[in-house]
Amino acid sequence: MSVRNGRQFLSIPGPTTVPDEVLAAMHRPAIDIREGELVAVTERLRKSLCDIVQSKGTPYFYIANGHGAWEAALSNVLSRDDKVLVLESGVFATGWGQAGGTIGLDIEVLPGSWTAAVKPEAVEERLKADISGDIKAVLVVQVDTASSVVNDIPAIRQAMDNAGHDALLLVDTIASLGTTLYKMDEWRVDVTVAACQKGLMMAPGLSFTVVSDKALERHKTATLRTAYWDWSAREGPEHYQKYSGTPPVHLLFGLEKAFEMIEEEGLEAIFLRHRLLAGATRAAVSKWVEGGVLSFNITDPTERSNSVTTVRLADTETLNAIHGYCEQKCGVIVGVGIGAFTGKALRIAHMGHLNAPMLFGTLGSIDMSLKALGIAHGDGAVQAAIDYLAENVSA
Ligand SMILES: *Cc1c(COP(=O)(O)O)cnc(C)c1O
Repeated sequence: MSVRNGRQFLSIPGPTTVPDEVLAAMHRPAIDIREGELVAVTERLRKSLCDIVQSKGTPYFYIANGHGAWEAALSNVLSRDDKVLVLESGVFATGWGQAGGTIGLDIEVLPGSWTAAVKPEAVEERLKADISGDIKAVLVVQVDTASSVVNDIPAIRQAMDNAGHDALLLVDTIASLGTTLYKMDEWRVDVTVAACQKGLMMAPGLSFTVVSDKALERHKTATLRTAYWDWSAREGPEHYQKYSGTPPVHLLFGLEKAFEMIEEEGLEAIFLRHRLLAGATRAAVSKWVEGGVLSFNITDPTERSNSVTTVRLADTETLNAIHGYCEQKCGVIVGVGIGAFTGKALRIAHMGHLNAPMLFGTLGSIDMSLKALGIAHGDGAVQAAIDYLAENVSA
């Protein structure tokens, strides 16, 4: 037996729920790609993206997932054998670094924990030791979607300044843009990497780099540049050059609607909504962990992200049982651990186009699975989430 009839709910940390309005915006014929309406769409999207990352920098759009924008960021500002310092806090910065290794960069990982944020003091110490200035760029993620940590980007910037180091700061905001405060210019980030399918609520397929003047300066002498990713090539006079070829017309329509929705809700309101839904999730998890089988991955509560919550589990069997129950019995697909946490974690996504009933649905289904499967857990998790929101969302 099951109670899964109805719409299946994909509750994973990306791709996230695409609003019906965004899906509908893509449901129309293509239009001319050389001039007219689409050129204006491109201009509006460029401006909106800069508004969202809070920057006056230069935006570039790629028909690619986040991995593509990773390569775009590296290849546009670096040269063969340049040293890059990767700040570890989960899967993603190190994955980005590994991609850099394959295109000829010399990757050094500043070892970190998967249960805590990057330590700015460690960054400062490593950069101070780089007396000859070998390190050309520092890579970090704002939210690591595997560990669910949120890194303190301004503190890392401060650490670089304290060390008097001239490396570029490259930040992956793929899982944090549209969920968490991010101020590219004020924090003096040199390259922001983003993608459309998480906090930005779009169907997968577009990713972005937004670039500071300092990074554009370094770009001039970078030797890893290749035709498709190259920023200069994208500055040509023809509209199609912005996309190095055919613009992804329908994706642009969808993104325009998603950006409109973001603008309408307002960034402050969006961040607050994510804080509240994340707080409700953590209230629920706080109950489950009383059973001794589940536990928070991120030790320090202040380092837990507002995009996703990683919950560690005793073993793969338990994970598969919960995941299978939620999917087959309830129609909810919950996220699972990746990287070193494969088979050892649940990841509860709370980013993007999400409201209280959607979150209650996921939390309730997990709670139901724990009960039905006889997995030890503290009672009252969903009630705790409800109480948290009732307390914090005033009438
Ligand atoms: C999802 C994610 C990526 C990878 O993005 P893809 O679109 O799957 O290539 C990179 N970094 C972070 C932080 C992510 O959450």
